[in-house]
Amino acid sequence: MTVFEHKGKLLIVDCGVLFPEETQPGVNVILPDFSYIRSRMQDVVAVVLTHGHEDHIGGVPYLLRERADIPVVGSELTLAFVSAKLEEHRITPKLQQVKEGQRRSFGPFDLEFLAVNHSIPDGLAVAIRTEAGLVLATGDFKMDQFPLDNRLTDLPGFARLGEEGVDLFMTDSTNAEVPGFTMTEEDIRPAIDSVFRTAPRRIIVSSFASHVHRIQQVIDASARHNRKVAFVGRSMVRNMAIAEKLGFLHVPKGLIVDVKALERMKDSQVTMICTGSQGEPMAALSRMANREHTIKIGEGDTVLLASSLIPGNENSIYRVINGLTRWGANVVHKGNAKVHVSGHASAGELVYCYNLVKPKNVMPIHGEWRHLKANAELAIRTGVPEAQVLVVEDGVVVDLVDGVAKIVGRVPAEIVLVDGMTVGGVASEEALADRVQLSNDGAVTILGILDTRTGALVEPVEFIARGFVQDNAWIQGATKSIDDALRAANKVKIVDGPELEEIFTQSVTRWMQRKYRRIPVITSVVVDA
Ligand SMILES: [Zn+2]
Repeated sequence: MTVFEHKGKLLIVDCGVLFPEETQPGVNVILPDFSYIRSRMQDVVAVVLTHGHEDHIGGVPYLLRERADIPVVGSELTLAFVSAKLEEHRITPKLQQVKEGQRRSFGPFDLEFLAVNHSIPDGLAVAIRTEAGLVLATGDFKMDQFPLDNRLTDLPGFARLGEEGVDLFMTDSTNAEVPGFTMTEEDIRPAIDSVFRTAPRRIIVSSFASHVHRIQQVIDASARHNRKVAFVGRSMVRNMAIAEKLGFLHVPKGLIVDVKALERMKDSQVTMICTGSQGEPMAALSRMANREHTIKIGEGDTVLLASSLIPGNENSIYRVINGLTRWGANVVHKGNAKVHVSGHASAGELVYCYNLVKPKNVMPIHGEWRHLKANAELAIRTGVPEAQVLVVEDGVVVDLVDGVAKIVGRVPAEIVLVDGMTVGGVASEEALADRVQLSNDGAVTILGILDTRTGALVEPVEFIARGFVQDNAWIQGATKSIDDALRAANKVKIVDGPELEEIFTQSVTRWMQRKYRRIPVITSVVVDA
């Protein structure tokens, strides 16, 4: 989420979510931090969405919970995806549909929209004109010269803005480290075709629920090889229905069937396209690998990972691929076949854009620090002065005054976790640390019954362990550590329950740390006799 401020008004560009990592168990999604704008919601003139990916639109329901009537601006497909999502949150948005070539004003911001291509159709770059200067933000984009929908990135438009004078260029960094040019979507058709030609039984395709171009390829290949297609997963079914209705997905009549209808067909006539609960594919695949999914992978099935393998998660991805292979599946992924091309511009395309746009200032966006840095280096190589290339992380404030961009401060930008129905608060870093500790080492509860008149324990201390696995002798050892601690503390008799609980927890924690080098989550409870 980027917030632009001019003359006291705020313009938001994109409002996405992140998906949790392995160190954040139980977290559904991660939101941007609205705290800086929370007290100024009335100053927001619009939220502009560059395209329909979750990391650009997923936070909109949470933003509109703060103020429901913020105008939501985007292309036809982007708005259709975001409205379907808002419907599930029972929010009726104020939508303003725009398309490439159009100009619209919102408060002091004069916006112009330009076509860009990406792995989802109908993406837009946005040029923002104010009295402070001209900003061009690309959103996610690439320069596919043979896109499936023939909609090219508007390079003449980029050049025209360059002639007018772009004061700040904000451009997609995701693939800035990748040399050369991103392959065209058309280039993967032969690899997908070969999968379909040789698959003996069912083909199960996993994809992001928004990856319309790739799903089009799978549908085309299914049609060519006489397979029927079923969508599996709520967001996949919903998004593909929308994309087809609006004409972004072309499906031959009768090709799509309900998943139940597949049971009556031969395995060699079946394609399933599925996704995970949040629209991303990994969740569904890992359930399949563990046999927890309704799709039971069997001998001779082909599983096609038609998306990128999410960076940073390689270990869990290979665990999933191993699991699927063990059930007898042939797993085809970008590591062993040309079945994926990126949706993002590589270094060659980015350099091309810098030379076209000739920006005065550059702020790389979208990507991790190393991507931003690599993108900055490209800008500098094309002649943008180093001081005018700003590599910034979330929360950093950049001022654009008289054609010069400068870092001037910082606002709060914590990550906000959505945990079940709760936003922020409950799912704190501490709670996550507890969850990781629970999953690694389990939990032990220590129970004691205290006679408050004598200060003596009525019965031996009892231990209840969940997920804590050690030799059987641990209870004796833990009991002894408590006895020792009590003897040491018992110069005065202890009649206070909470104090006793503290002694239980501390002594057992210390003993376990010494003995096993691991500490479960330890809870002590002392009740009065
Ligand atoms: Zn995207």
